[in-house]
Amino acid sequence: MSSPLERFRELLRIPTISHADESLVDWTRFEEFRSALERLYPETHRVLQRDLVGGHSLLYRWPGTSVGDPLVLMAHQDVVPVVESEWRHPPFGAEIDGEGADAVLHARGAIDDKGAVVAILEAVEQLVVGGFAPRHDVYLAFGHNEETAGGGARAIVDELRARGIRPALVLDEGGAVVDGVIPGISVPTAMVGVAERGVLTLRLTAREAGGHASTPPRLPATARLARAIDRLQRHPFPTRLVPPVRAMLTTLAPYAPQPLRTVLRSLGVTGALVAAVFPRLGPEMNAIVRTTAVTTELSGAQGENVLATSARASVNIRLLTGDTVEGATARVRRIIADPLVEIDARHGSDPSPVSSWRGEPWRRIARAVSATLGEDVVTTPYLQLGASDSRWFTPISRHVYRFAPFHLTASERESLHSHDERIRVDVWLRGIEFYRALVSAS
Ligand SMILES: [Zn+2]
Repeated sequence: MSSPLERFRELLRIPTISHADESLVDWTRFEEFRSALERLYPETHRVLQRDLVGGHSLLYRWPGTSVGDPLVLMAHQDVVPVVESEWRHPPFGAEIDGEGADAVLHARGAIDDKGAVVAILEAVEQLVVGGFAPRHDVYLAFGHNEETAGGGARAIVDELRARGIRPALVLDEGGAVVDGVIPGISVPTAMVGVAERGVLTLRLTAREAGGHASTPPRLPATARLARAIDRLQRHPFPTRLVPPVRAMLTTLAPYAPQPLRTVLRSLGVTGALVAAVFPRLGPEMNAIVRTTAVTTELSGAQGENVLATSARASVNIRLLTGDTVEGATARVRRIIADPLVEIDARHGSDPSPVSSWRGEPWRRIARAVSATLGEDVVTTPYLQLGASDSRWFTPISRHVYRFAPFHLTASERESLHSHDERIRVDVWLRGIEFYRALVSAS
């Protein structure tokens, strides 16, 4: 009889790597992962109905004993690629360092997001074996391409919509339990994302008739493009406190030292000032108070001695709650103020709606947090900075939250999408308890 940890390690060793170009994905790994799940969680697969959706995404339904809106637990099976040479442990070796409470499990996906997939399945398997049946349906939705296209989660939502389902609560990855999220506040906080920013890529293009680098025009395409980028850089989007951020600060105020406590308790008066100061506290604090824009790709001439016939840049924009694709594009156009720089919106999605941090679905999460992750842990709403699969669910549920029940240090959080991704074993085991508590309350 294997243990939860041994099952977790076995699943981490299957490299379900996603690539933006899906022709590069080795789908046999996803098949292997799927059959390992069947083998390792036999009772779950006996009692829950399972459908394969959108290719390799998994949708499980655990029938409830009575009619009512269901709980949906989301996670994704895919992981981001690795640069093996940067890792201290083999990324798909699932090696364990240290012993007892200090044991650390090293693997790509240990946090993002097999940590959640496997903890959810462990919780469900334990409950099924114990004879538990949920009052309302419980769905497990495991996408297969969260890190890239997100088509799997979209297909799951289409399927649920076709079945006429309106989830009472959707929980996906996102925040975690962290220490010291705001400088000066040291109480551990369970950061539950109630909204996420929108994403927009703008392509800037400056053109030129061409010619030789020995006789350049006054303002060649490359310089024109550089000027446009510089203007954007000099005119960042304005700062403001949006409702999820305001709610986070209000929740944390009682735990702040003076004089910060008074400042956070009087946001009606101090809000604009707080928003203006945040960007100085680092990139994350900056990103929660304004729409951010950063130039990512750049291209110019094909050779060192020719003029570029076109110079291009991609600007990646993350939209704060309340901003829109249209409004941000118009603002960029105004700031660049150059009709000879073409601006095309490529991918764009508005910020998500904001889920409530009052009411029963929220309290269910908060109760599970304090029952299993520590009574001293403060559950707080926050604005998630990156995009997750959960955004596809907002059209069918008003209660979409982003939180994985793992207590993570700053350096553990940084290892996501980077090298040396790892999770402390006892932290992961507690995550199972959280999901158990949440499902038991269904
Ligand atoms: Zn993820």
